[in-house]
Amino acid sequence: MAQLINGKEISAKVKESVKTETKEFIEKTGVVPGLAVILVGDDPASKIYVGNKKKACAEVGFNSFEHILPESTEQGELLDLIEKLNHDPSVHGILCQLPLPKHIDERAIINAISPKKDVDAFHPANVGKIMIGDYDFLPCTPAGVMELIHSTGVSVGGKKCAVIGRSNIVGKPMAMLLLHENGTVTICHSKTKDLEKECREADILVAAVGRAKLIKGDMIKEGAVVIDVGMNRDENGKLCGDVDFSEAEKRASYITPVPGGVGPMTIAMLMKNTLTAAKLSLKG
Ligand code: NAP
Repeated sequence: MAQLINGKEISAKVKESVKTETKEFIEKTGVVPGLAVILVGDDPASKIYVGNKKKACAEVGFNSFEHILPESTEQGELLDLIEKLNHDPSVHGILCQLPLPKHIDERAIINAISPKKDVDAFHPANVGKIMIGDYDFLPCTPAGVMELIHSTGVSVGGKKCAVIGRSNIVGKPMAMLLLHENGTVTICHSKTKDLEKECREADILVAAVGRAKLIKGDMIKEGAVVIDVGMNRDENGKLCGDVDFSEAEKRASYITPVPGGVGPMTIAMLMKNTLTAAKLSLKG
């Protein structure tokens, strides 16, 4: 039976260490790290995420600045706000909650955020830096997954890793981080010919698809480390991941639950990035 990887506990530790470091940083510099969060429209899930980010900022001792804009907001207005925040010295991190309404070009918004304040690490300048392994920020979810893997004590070096999903925010950077730690990485997607085989060969499996229970127990290699990024609803409306947990836990050595696995890590890593951004701001 697999050992559970407790994302709640690990994320609490990350936040505790950010809190301690923040206190020291404020005492030394007088600068309070500040995170601006922009929400356009009233998507209920996005509202919850924004609320959780505000709560986490308070927990670690940051200022948080919420900008809640109506669904009808024009792209130009949003760009003006970002420009203002780029120049606001009390704001060290800027996060625009995705998805944005359809009439707004997401790429244009991401590109407008100053790379130094891009705590999501979605700006092309930061994506490029991650690619060459010389970065200031890592995207929060993949960075959180790496913390979870490290918590198991299993080393990535030389292991076969399968990442299921190739999105810009999870799958692709995830694969890059595993590669930086010397994993032999396969990236799978909807056109992958034999997903079962790719999964079955993986010592470390990261599922980031968004399809409830796509990964069945018999697709898991005995003793694998299984990280489930997916957040879905099952047939009963219950939150579940991409992995069929009850089957997979019989084969894996370590496995994340959903909820309580990757989810809490994402916000903890956002706090870490915001503190890094505040430190960077003093370097000019
Ligand atoms: P996304 O942009 O929709 O990407 C999904 C990926 O899965 C795509 O690359 C797609 O392939 C691939 N895919 C779809 N069906 C597949 C199949 N049958 N077999 C193999 N691959 C398949 O999603 P995302 O933003 O990366 O998010 C993925 C999941 O993670 C979602 O459930 C999301 O809610 C969750 N998530 C959780 C957190 C967290 O903090 N816990 C953070 C971010 C995301 P193609 O490229 O070929 O279309």
